[in-house]
Amino acid sequence: MNAPRLRFAPSPTGYLHIGGVRTALFNWLIARRFGGTFILRIEDTDKARSTPESIEAILNGLAWLGITPDEDAYQQTKRLAIYNEYANRLLVEEKAYRCYCTLEELDERRKQAIANKETPIYDGHCRNLTKPPPNTPFAIRFHSPTQGETVVNDLIKGRVVFDNAILDDLVIIRQDGLPTYNFSVVIDDALLRITHVLRGDDHLTNTPRQIHIYEGLGFPPPEFGHLPMILGQDKSRLSKRHGATSITTYKDMGYLPEAMINYLIRLGWSHGDQEIFSIQELVKIFSLDHAMKSAAVFDPEKLSWVNAQHLQTADPDRIAKLLKPLLVHEGIIAAEASLNDKWMRKLVVALQSRWRTLVEIAHASAVYIRTEVEIDEQAKTKFLKPEIKAALEDLALTLQTISPFTHDTLEPAFHRVLEKHELKMGKLAQPVRVALTGKTASPGIYDVMELLGQEKTCSRLIKATDLITNTEISF
Ligand code: GLU
Repeated sequence: MNAPRLRFAPSPTGYLHIGGVRTALFNWLIARRFGGTFILRIEDTDKARSTPESIEAILNGLAWLGITPDEDAYQQTKRLAIYNEYANRLLVEEKAYRCYCTLEELDERRKQAIANKETPIYDGHCRNLTKPPPNTPFAIRFHSPTQGETVVNDLIKGRVVFDNAILDDLVIIRQDGLPTYNFSVVIDDALLRITHVLRGDDHLTNTPRQIHIYEGLGFPPPEFGHLPMILGQDKSRLSKRHGATSITTYKDMGYLPEAMINYLIRLGWSHGDQEIFSIQELVKIFSLDHAMKSAAVFDPEKLSWVNAQHLQTADPDRIAKLLKPLLVHEGIIAAEASLNDKWMRKLVVALQSRWRTLVEIAHASAVYIRTEVEIDEQAKTKFLKPEIKAALEDLALTLQTISPFTHDTLEPAFHRVLEKHELKMGKLAQPVRVALTGKTASPGIYDVMELLGQEKTCSRLIKATDLITNTEISF
């Protein structure tokens, strides 16, 4: 492939959704892999539905994922003069014509066609008007071929043939002077020298129309590839009712950008049985050869699993940095500055392979940060029993004298208490775990103690022994 030029061309009419990200990703990866260029074009000619907030969301979402364009973003509303220039050229060359039909007239004729059991397409009413009505607003329509076939040799779907008879003369410039999608997309893709158009297959039926416009303007068409839809678990098109579809929501839920990329690329592409890919690896191996032809189902469980795989191997310092604002956001700390970087690294090392998202890690961190621990009732009943009380008290006393308070010094001290009370590891470790974390599962017990520090460890052990007494009294 000679240096390709690819683009992502979202319409800023909402948030950046999962499907859009996957499209962006395909284009970006092909550009990266083959030494090409990736551009971003904001298709905002639908002025009623486009918003600056949506543009912002698209830019932020892509920046978070690291899908960065190689040129300044293009914006269609800043290029309106260009579309009009080419529309005029088509008018002069009689490849397009002015259409004076009003919306009401069009609607009436459409209804009539349906009543007559005909395909409701534009009937060519203004195609050969000899006397245009004076001072009447008009749209510009492209003179589409009415016979023959148009073949799309799709990079993903293969050969798709369209019958030209069903494609009517489409409006290229609306009455308000704004271009329609099918027109501006062709002008831009041609002028921006796009070599490959990779987009969702909801645009496949637009492609023959676009090819006609390329031909009308004498531009060579790019290659096209249409990605199958992403479906929800119920096999209908992925939408809000399946849960979060906005990329920023996944950021907020604590997913890593590389995990989102990994998961989304696997939704439309495979590489043997491999599931986990780094971005660097994708940039080396990605191609359309194994792009999937059929729709894929979005599976939040699998996404979480992929995220967990990436979390496990991520640099703890980086995870610590990402975690801090989340701890503030979740109300676990008041300010990021209150946490020591070395301690945060230890915390992450202890937790990063146990949880699936950053938010889960943040919640699991609370017990190491807050002064108090909330003890799970069931765990208390099962493990904080009178027969362990003496050993817990002894452990608290022993640990008060340990210095430095680290994994390596805690281990022998713990063993001394075990020997003295003739207990096996599990017999004491589990009550200690419950006393320290409130739960029956946690990282290694010495890591837990080191993270808590001497003061919290000892006071929680003593508190647990008090609980045992209190329980006895209440019986
Ligand atoms: N603006 C169109 C969309 O968001 C772009 C389609 C295309 O890539 O040509 O669906």
